[in-house]
Amino acid sequence: MRYIEPHAHMVSRVTDDYVALATAGCAAVCEPAFWAGFDRSSPLGFRDYFRQLTEYEPARAARYGLAHYCWLCLNPKESEDLKLAEEVLALIPEFLDRPNVLGIGEIGLNKNSRNELRVLEQHIDLAARHDQLILVHTPHLEDKLKGTRLILDALRADRRIRPERVIIDHVEEHTAKAVLDRGHWAGMTLYPVSKCSPARAVDILDRFGTERLWMNSACDWGESVPLAVPHTALEMRRRRWPAETIDRVVYQNPIAFLSQSPRFRVPQ
Ligand SMILES: [Zn+2]
Repeated sequence: MRYIEPHAHMVSRVTDDYVALATAGCAAVCEPAFWAGFDRSSPLGFRDYFRQLTEYEPARAARYGLAHYCWLCLNPKESEDLKLAEEVLALIPEFLDRPNVLGIGEIGLNKNSRNELRVLEQHIDLAARHDQLILVHTPHLEDKLKGTRLILDALRADRRIRPERVIIDHVEEHTAKAVLDRGHWAGMTLYPVSKCSPARAVDILDRFGTERLWMNSACDWGESVPLAVPHTALEMRRRRWPAETIDRVVYQNPIAFLSQSPRFRVPQ
């Protein structure tokens, strides 16, 4: 099997996970910027994090023949502090030309608050000014449907944003259609304890087809399964999906979206 892991927080994983990904057929891993499990106290904490994402993790992945890409932002959980958000957003442009940076992400909403929405709009503006792809996080704990609608409207309000250059992640049965209808890509996140299981993800594919959809593990410091994508490919095989269709979902689709960034190279 060959596949792309389009959403994994490798800074919080051990090196053995890189070995597991590489041996399972992963060709490239993409790492959106994320909450660290605690609130960072200053912009300097983010500068070091961006250096980790653009310098250290690509080198760690390369030891196992894995390409490593990343996305940069201040995550929604930390965007209540508007002054911190402003300072972190000001740091991002100096990192955008680094060779493994794909765009701005994972931005979005967590509690659907007013400040989160304001910082989301600032990130969308940053992406538009620098012609970057966008990866969006949709809320898990609060109202996902409401949060998704707020995000879709914020994206549509900025006329510079082309919908096909935005992926909305963590979609579920009740949000996938709205995302796809707006012309965006949709990501399904596979979690072991809650949210979207491999079986549910394949049900969603049954319902909505395989156009502009991808799957990811979003593995991080919490309970998560770094091999969730190949596990779900196995579930597809168990349900007798054709090998070509499985390959499209786990390999060709991520490449089609990510290749819109001039920095993404199809792994050889
Ligand atoms: Zn994530």
